[in-house]
Amino acid sequence: MAKHTKIVATLGLVSDSREVIREMIEAGMNVARLNFSHGSYEWHGNVIKIIRELSAEMKKPIGIMADLQGPRIRTLVQSEVEIKSGDFVLVSDIFYAPNFQFPISNFQTISNDQISNDKKFSLDVNKIVDDIEVGNEILIEDGLMKVVVREKNDGVLLAEVIDGGTIKNHKGINIPDAKLSIDPITEKDEKDLEFSLQNEVDFVAMSFVSSGENIENLRDKIKKILKRENDLPQIVAKIERKEAIKNLDDIVEHTDVVMVARGDLGIEMDESKVGVFQKEIVEKSLQKMKPVIMATQMLDSMIKNPRPTRAEVSDVTNAVIDHVDAVMLSGEAANGKYPVESVRIMKDIIENTESSPYDNVTHLLKLKDDEDFKNFVKSAYELAKDKNVKAIAVASASGFTARLVSHFRMEKPLLVATNKEKTYNQMSLIWGAEGFFFQEKELAKVANEMIENQKAAGQLIAGDLVAIVLGKEGAEEKTHSAKTKKI
Ligand code: ATP
Ligand code: MG
Ligand code: MG
Repeated sequence: MAKHTKIVATLGLVSDSREVIREMIEAGMNVARLNFSHGSYEWHGNVIKIIRELSAEMKKPIGIMADLQGPRIRTLVQSEVEIKSGDFVLVSDIFYAPNFQFPISNFQTISNDQISNDKKFSLDVNKIVDDIEVGNEILIEDGLMKVVVREKNDGVLLAEVIDGGTIKNHKGINIPDAKLSIDPITEKDEKDLEFSLQNEVDFVAMSFVSSGENIENLRDKIKKILKRENDLPQIVAKIERKEAIKNLDDIVEHTDVVMVARGDLGIEMDESKVGVFQKEIVEKSLQKMKPVIMATQMLDSMIKNPRPTRAEVSDVTNAVIDHVDAVMLSGEAANGKYPVESVRIMKDIIENTESSPYDNVTHLLKLKDDEDFKNFVKSAYELAKDKNVKAIAVASASGFTARLVSHFRMEKPLLVATNKEKTYNQMSLIWGAEGFFFQEKELAKVANEMIENQKAAGQLIAGDLVAIVLGKEGAEEKTHSAKTKKI
């Protein structure tokens, strides 16, 4: 039986060749993540083409996720700036950058000889200083350095250094307590989105989401660009801001998929709470039947080493036991020495965990209030959990019915037949789902055809009892039927 928990792997310069991508798919990669913070359109376009060709050749759905950079603020410095704890630094945005000379006499907090124009850096976003207040912390390079704003004067901030270091150009900035008015979909994101949609990606990940409204705005843009209402890429909400934790219910309600983006979350919040937030985000996602991805540093040491640390192995194990839909690789797969081995080891950990009793927890279903829906879910669940049922066969157009059945986390084959290419690709992310594509066929017929194919391939045997769950044709899968059948 194939593993249930899926693997998302970020592709980069070490993993952009046909050979390596093929090996990664063979090793267990289900979804390829393309990070639009890096790489040219030529690079992304080429990788997308390779994945589509391999997916067809290997007869396996491989999802493509375009990850939009979002409102990431970065440093702008002409040369590196050393800062020590206790120093004062000047901070501006691009209004003054990159070589502003500031009349330091304006500041009241400290005497003029304590400030110098040598100690300054800029933020690469227009008017961002307006959103920053006295008392706000500014974190530089993934929280490596920290300064606190003591005074604000004419578009320039005076900040005291708490944790020093060397400020380099183009490093990420976090300002956890500021209410930033910066657009959640930047001009760069709009262009990247258009490129991604032209290439028919299966998932669009939104960085630094802070509300359900952000998600709806992105969905509107997607529909406008594609000029259609259905067969859309699914939106992945990356939970990585303080605001997102505050508005978690709202975000989970509106998004299609959730990603626990532990990197920035650990910078924006007390890092000792990341594990607790991780549990909360996964629980909320599962309750609302939204697929959830665990991300960041899962096998981080494999960027350099051929074996992961024991703590990393346990991290993946625990995510599998928590029943996430997918676990993710970042630098390990995009920028490290062992991209293929990282996928292989991740798969081994998943398989060993799934075959243990520790993940055999009956899933708590929190159902929608709609009565028909409840009855359908109940009957499908009762059928599927019957010990004699060998496999669950689902026919689904939008993928909704498949996600619903996946939600039970049944440890038996979940075969999903669909007549939509996007849905087929999107099954790559869904826990336990094995997707099968039938071009231009009626939904009612594809389940039987899939079962016949499985019999011919020896995966099912004549006489096996199979639960058959049918979604209805159309974008909104509302009515369903569920029954068992001896094949
Ligand atoms: P972010 O800052 O958006 O959270 P990141 O810079 O940490 O992301 P990851 O997606 O985690 O990026 O990828 C890890 C590293 O792999 C990146 O820092 C980058 O060096 C490299 N990388 C990723 N994608 C590409 C690409 N398309 N081209 C070149 N290098 C890439
Ligand atoms: Mg990120
Ligand atoms: Mg088990």
